[in-house]
Amino acid sequence: MSMVTQGTERSRWLIKGARPLGGTPANILIDGTAIVVVEPAGRGGAGQAADRSVTVVDADGLIALPGLVDLHAHLREPGREDAETVASGTAAAALGGYTAIHAMANTEPVADTAGVVEQIWRLGREAGNCDVRPVGAVTAGLAGSALAELGAMADSAARVRVFSDDGHCVADATLMRRALEYVKAFDGVIAQHAQEPRLTAGAQVNEGEISARLGLTGWPAVAEEAIVARDCLLAAHVGSAVHVCHMSTAGSVEIIRWAKSKGWQVTAEVTPHHLLLTDELAIGYDPVFKVNPPLRTADDAAALRAALADGTIDCVATDHAPHPAESKETEWSQASFGMTGLETALRVVHEAMVSTGLMGWNEVADRMSVRPAAIGRIGALAAGLGELRHGCEIAPGQPANLVLYDPEPMTPVDPAAHASRSRNTPFAGMKLPGQVIATFLRGRPTVSDGRLAR
Ligand SMILES: [Zn+2]
Repeated sequence: MSMVTQGTERSRWLIKGARPLGGTPANILIDGTAIVVVEPAGRGGAGQAADRSVTVVDADGLIALPGLVDLHAHLREPGREDAETVASGTAAAALGGYTAIHAMANTEPVADTAGVVEQIWRLGREAGNCDVRPVGAVTAGLAGSALAELGAMADSAARVRVFSDDGHCVADATLMRRALEYVKAFDGVIAQHAQEPRLTAGAQVNEGEISARLGLTGWPAVAEEAIVARDCLLAAHVGSAVHVCHMSTAGSVEIIRWAKSKGWQVTAEVTPHHLLLTDELAIGYDPVFKVNPPLRTADDAAALRAALADGTIDCVATDHAPHPAESKETEWSQASFGMTGLETALRVVHEAMVSTGLMGWNEVADRMSVRPAAIGRIGALAAGLGELRHGCEIAPGQPANLVLYDPEPMTPVDPAAHASRSRNTPFAGMKLPGQVIATFLRGRPTVSDGRLAR
């Protein structure tokens, strides 16, 4: 295990009185990039605290979670730096408690070659706020007609394992089959944006009572569910791994439950906004609530929450989708789809899942760190990654990726305070619990006292 941090001197931190996974208060000693001691608070720690080379963090009342991992964020660089950059998006991530995020491929140019994914990976390293794992496009130019250079992206320095045409569905079943077959060779996974294009032409909001009332073109649940079912069957047929992005309907949950009961390599994510918000918010025609897939009914949201709680849905992924004001502050039908999410995800999950009694902090750590890391092939069991692993236990010998979270405050979300370059959060002004106090990336604070460190 390496004990040497980047820079001149190795840093040591004693986090006193934090509650790992919301449990009993403990002292956590970090030396260099790793956790070296975790012991009950009150016992020990004094010796280390007296050592002046150790920085003491008073974490009384704070919950310690493993650094969060996002499988689904849009960082917009290269190409749309007016909306976000790798630096601003990863700053938002760190403030949200994330230590690793996956950057979606729909940049300009598209991340469909080794060159582009290496550029994004390198920008992430330079920014230093969290690890950036580029997602490679499944098809060249996201055009849906020919496979991209999946092998070259996997072999590149960015070591891509997750591939997605997100924003677009890989609608062609033959291409989807070939992509699933191809990634088996290097234990990759295809993350599908499940949207049958022919069933969603011009769609604006969930198809149902609200779309009828508003006179906007409806987006039927079946457009998602048909692709989810097809891709579960394809993954089973070729013995490969499919991950379903941003599940939004009760029917999708039933299909995933069935596919998992068969033992197929199927995983799924849900966004914070689909857990907490419903299509009734579209009634005011405010495009901040316009998103792909659309906000669904209260019954769908309840099914998604239950499925996340029982583990049918593996993880929470933000689908952080920053847009400049001119793309969102316009009429509904003209506005872009998407919402920011990195800086509010943990608080929204707290509100939707923990405050409701559906999950404890142990489950939050599992669904927001352990499982997404495993799906991204950077988890505790990932071979050859050493200290670059995420979603590990808070235990001696593990990489020191941690978030310290204060569950007590109830404050309104203030987009003006966000590090993201964009302000399109649907939670603006909403009172939510909690605050990220500190984030540690391999023993180095990226956030301290609730602000970006440095
Ligand atoms: Zn998507």
